Amino acid sequence: MVESKEFLKSILDTISEHIVVINDSGDIKFVNRSWQTFGDENDCQCNTQWEDQNYLAICKSAAAHGDEFGAKAYTGINQVINQQLTEFYLEYPCHSDTESRWFMMRAVPLKLGTTGYVVISHLNITERKIAEQQVRELARIDGLTQIANRRHFDDFYEQEWSRCARLKHPLSLAMIDLDNFKSLNDNFGHLVGDICLKEVAKLLPDYTRRPGDLCARYGGEEFVLVLGNTQCHQAQKLVTRFMTALNTLQLPELAGHPLTVSIGLATIYPSSSDDAMLLIEMADSALYQAKEAGRNQLVIADNIEPLNIEQCP
Ligand code: GH3
Ligand code: MG
Ligand code: MG
Repeated sequence: MVESKEFLKSILDTISEHIVVINDSGDIKFVNRSWQTFGDENDCQCNTQWEDQNYLAICKSAAAHGDEFGAKAYTGINQVINQQLTEFYLEYPCHSDTESRWFMMRAVPLKLGTTGYVVISHLNITERKIAEQQVRELARIDGLTQIANRRHFDDFYEQEWSRCARLKHPLSLAMIDLDNFKSLNDNFGHLVGDICLKEVAKLLPDYTRRPGDLCARYGGEEFVLVLGNTQCHQAQKLVTRFMTALNTLQLPELAGHPLTVSIGLATIYPSSSDDAMLLIEMADSALYQAKEAGRNQLVIADNIEPLNIEQCP
């Protein structure tokens, strides 16, 4: 019997998952070597005698210090003990000072005679989490210009609208459209057209440096700047600086042909009852006016709701 116990313990010690077995009261009855090593390497306060610890008490104390995953683990493991769940699964971050790490926890019941236990295993899933994060980030970037894509813009704009509504901040939006881009493509070829789009996209991040700002490719040859907590005159300054930078850009591929944009700018003090499309429509119609007025210029949207919308100088 002793031999078989040693034999089983040796097997559990070879497993890379960190395993802890607790009884129905949460008292730790067994930890494998991976668990012990992880505790040692992470300078765990309680690593000397795990068998003296109560796992549920550790989760509860983490929860009391504001750790939401500690609270979830406490609830989930109790549900396994009380047979409300046949298995509990949780993915949680556990970052060290030097690296980002994620783990998964699985808790399953184990009945030996009349005594109930729960076997809890933890596995490092950092590689998978990082890969998932990279895929998510790639899905938000425009392949050609390497700035935010329309999907990212939609999410960001909605968040920024709500944030500005909550904080009673102004929100500015600039719609930027390359002028006569169809004929530029026709004259110089689509590859040169692509180079122009990339060059414009390279300039834009210089004007969207704050956390409430974003530049994005809105579609085809249209770009958009979201400028959170930015009044109209401040946005006007930024956009004018961008136009100047673009006007001084000399692209050898264009052999002296100017690359210009038309811009519609609008500012609003959002309120949660407003439709967020309103600001986009205002900027879009200002852009239309800029095209009508001869292109290569900025038009600032008229004040259509005087009480709600920032008055531009
Ligand atoms: P306007 O000054 O009124 O904006 O005229 P425009 O020619 O720029 O506008 P229009 O909407 O007629 O044409 C847009 C052109 O942009 C047509 C399309 O082929 C080109 N375009 C859209 N996306 C891309 C792209 O990814 N690469 C290239 N090279 N061209 C693109
Ligand atoms: Mg267009
Ligand atoms: Mg255009």
